[in-house]
Amino acid sequence: MNSYDGTPSMLSVEEARDRIVSMFNTLDTEEKAVLDTLGQVLAEDIKSDLDIPPLDNSAMDGYAIRYEDTVGASKNTPKTVKVIAEISAGQIPDSEVLPGTSIRIMTGAPIPKGATAVVPFEDTDEFGATSSRISKTLNQDIRINVEASKHANIRPAGQDIKKGDVILKSGTVIRPAEAAIIASTGRSQIKVTRRPVISVIATGNELVEPGMEIKPGSIYDSNSYGIAASITKYGGLPKFLGIAQDDWHSLEAKIEQGLDSDLLITSAGVSKGDYDIVKDLLSSRGNIDFWSVRMRPAKPLAFGTFETGNGGKIPHIGLPGNPVSALVAFELLVRPAILKMLGRIDSGKATIKATLSDDIVNTDGRRVYARVKVYQEYGKFYASLTGDQGSGVLTSMVLANGLAVCPEDVEVLKAGSPVSVHMLDWPDGISI
Ligand code: AMP
Ligand code: MG
Repeated sequence: MNSYDGTPSMLSVEEARDRIVSMFNTLDTEEKAVLDTLGQVLAEDIKSDLDIPPLDNSAMDGYAIRYEDTVGASKNTPKTVKVIAEISAGQIPDSEVLPGTSIRIMTGAPIPKGATAVVPFEDTDEFGATSSRISKTLNQDIRINVEASKHANIRPAGQDIKKGDVILKSGTVIRPAEAAIIASTGRSQIKVTRRPVISVIATGNELVEPGMEIKPGSIYDSNSYGIAASITKYGGLPKFLGIAQDDWHSLEAKIEQGLDSDLLITSAGVSKGDYDIVKDLLSSRGNIDFWSVRMRPAKPLAFGTFETGNGGKIPHIGLPGNPVSALVAFELLVRPAILKMLGRIDSGKATIKATLSDDIVNTDGRRVYARVKVYQEYGKFYASLTGDQGSGVLTSMVLANGLAVCPEDVEVLKAGSPVSVHMLDWPDGISI
């Protein structure tokens, strides 16, 4: 057995993050349904083969008319035109609007020949009418109560997109608006950078799978759930491998199942306890560093590459076992690696300045990421601690929307001081 006995080096959060990120590359591309690409990055320019909208069409439900026929119209002096046809969205008009006539038209329907404006129902004596009115107005007169300007309520062909335009460039992140505009050009499949597959393994003899019966002395594996959810949240695909016991063979068997992924994440077994075998196994089968990161929570961390056995290598991040430490380390050190694999530019999470409502105590010169709830009062941000800050107290994460930063060289950040908060989420109800 190859036992790890090196002294872990102490890295700053930025050094640890940069070393991790430098080990990853943007992944290859895949062709897939637009519907499944939210948060992924386009790997091609998207061009439109169509004008959008394809034809001049109506922006309102109303009457297509010649605008000259409305000159001088008002409520007291309405102009009268004859309704000669009606047209709804999806139809192609076959009648022409001649002087003194109009065509009843629905939003999105193509503008008939001869029409130069659309007068909405509200500005006619049909205001308030229902669709049952159709048969009643056809071949009847309708009164127009306003003067329409030329092209009023007509959306011109190509208003949004001109045929041949590049509407999205390679490298664009797909949000709902991008999905919609791609679909508007008629495409349902696009080329994107593929999502990373990330294997998740918990380690510990004390762990039980949620849903199973608990034994005395055991706890449920919460880390795998938090880690898998974090992978999904940031755009990866978790490969859930469950629990390895604190023995070499059990862990190796789990790791074997994850060798086809882009990244292997384990939790626990990276500190100084007797059963912390993750480091022994990994240092024997790969090139693994064990780090202390100058942060609280989440000081111990393993990082390196693991030999797959067929000449390949897979990056491995060994997160700490304490549930809060695992989630905070993921947020600060794994999220940037996922974004790099997705081809996304990591411009950092939203960070805000708030006023602290409680003291943050820093006992040993690490950077403290205190779990806080950011709230707003009279237009100012405040951050209050979410209770017990122990690294096993998941409630402190559940109640938090941000991580307040107490710098390495500050012993106490007093209530009332300004503080930077790394937002975990930008919650509803908070505005800048
Ligand atoms: P270790 O790094 O193995 O010493 O674990 C540190 C602490 O984290 C211990 O209290 C473990 O019981 C706890 N722990 C380790 N893995 C998990 C897990 N998957 N879910 C919840 N707690 C865990
Ligand atoms: Mg353990």
